[in-house]
Amino acid sequence: MADSATLLASDRAHVWHPYGAMPGQVEPLLVESAAGVRLRLADGRELVDGMSSWWAAIHGYRHPDLDAAAHGQLDRMSHVMFGGLTHAPAIELAEDLVRLTPEPLQHVFFSDSGSVSVEVAVKMALQFWIGRGRPGKHRLATWRGGYHGDTWQPMSVCDPDGGMHNLWTTHPGRLPAQLFADQPPAGFDAANRYLASRDAANREAPNGDASNGDGAVDASYLAHWDQLLGEHADELAAIIVEPVVQGAGGMTFHHPGYVTALRELADRHDVLLILDEIATGFGRTGTMFASEQAGISPDILCVGKALTGGYLSMAATLCTAAVADGVSASTSEAASGGGGLAHGPTFMANPLAASIARASIALLSDGGWQADVARIESELQTGLRPLGDRPGVKDVRVLGAIGVVQLDHPVDVPAATQAAVKQGAWLRPFRDLIYTMPPYPTDDADLAVLVRAISAAVDVA
Ligand SMILES: *Cc1c(COP(=O)(O)O)cnc(C)c1O
Repeated sequence: MADSATLLASDRAHVWHPYGAMPGQVEPLLVESAAGVRLRLADGRELVDGMSSWWAAIHGYRHPDLDAAAHGQLDRMSHVMFGGLTHAPAIELAEDLVRLTPEPLQHVFFSDSGSVSVEVAVKMALQFWIGRGRPGKHRLATWRGGYHGDTWQPMSVCDPDGGMHNLWTTHPGRLPAQLFADQPPAGFDAANRYLASRDAANREAPNGDASNGDGAVDASYLAHWDQLLGEHADELAAIIVEPVVQGAGGMTFHHPGYVTALRELADRHDVLLILDEIATGFGRTGTMFASEQAGISPDILCVGKALTGGYLSMAATLCTAAVADGVSASTSEAASGGGGLAHGPTFMANPLAASIARASIALLSDGGWQADVARIESELQTGLRPLGDRPGVKDVRVLGAIGVVQLDHPVDVPAATQAAVKQGAWLRPFRDLIYTMPPYPTDDADLAVLVRAISAAVDVA
């Protein structure tokens, strides 16, 4: 292997990095390996990973069960095409997903990334209405502050102003024009109310639905949605939102009662409900899926990121039998290709990814993650809360295994990152946010490292 300096020079010359210019403005860190919750850099330094590799590596790195699943599957086959062929890893993973999600979700479309799973969800929704004889229903509604990925349809429902795709707001006409409701009333207070209501519900019924019921939902906000949907129902195919936590759009939390209400509003106005749980799925907010806190089921659900425990790129779009029916009806009379959903990624249902995903879900099924997420939540509450008094800090919020410090100014990302690295942690701040979403096995000592790193980053940001 070439030495580090040569590799980094070549990286700078040839390799495009996320959300960056070419050539890159800031030199990335060269990672040699990773194990447990630590990244090992080429120069020998070790960093506690506060990011779970963009929220995906929920079990940490080189987990023996996931490694074994990968090796076992490699010895059988790493991939076969999914057109005309099928295999146990995909079938059994689909069964797992159907079992883990609410009963109406019965069908699973596998794809290779979260953004594509959102494209598929939108395609399903639009085709559903064509199948129902209402082709005019082709637009999407969402609330501001969201993030749904970087391909074309997902970008059209990302936050149009503050988000990373606002270039397209200043150059209109390129993206489909969607409808934006205000951001849900949110923030720390709502999250606290949610925590209180969840704790109360858990005391009474450990497996009970801990949704709303505490009157914390703002009726005027729902009236705003009701009006928007009422005015546009004839052209709307679906509502698409991230339930409970808006991730890359700004790391904000809202009361699950708003998600419950969107389900009722969607039904009343005859539009589908798509929930994007790519960030929130598989335990991150304290329940397996965030929508469980709302006690509702969507018509279409997207999962990705932590699906394979961060090992390989894979996502899935789940839908109800009614949606699948509508999709099929949309093309049954068309001569082309036998009808159905015209989507089929080359690496659809990749067996290697599916086997690892099954192993990841098996690890979750013993329920130990719940104690881990609860412990991380309480450590982050204790550790980060005092930062709320620091100059320049606007808000501190914690939910599940997510801890966020929001500044009143944009973060100096290179300075903040460097300060965190000095404390032995890997953080990747963005906009005005310094946050962590650690792997679930992160122990208290390593959480303390992350808290110290966030604190140091806040001081220089
Ligand atoms: C990351 C993310 C996506 C996009 O997933 P990719 O795998 O990066 O394409 C979509 N929606 C949400 C909520 C996400 O967090």
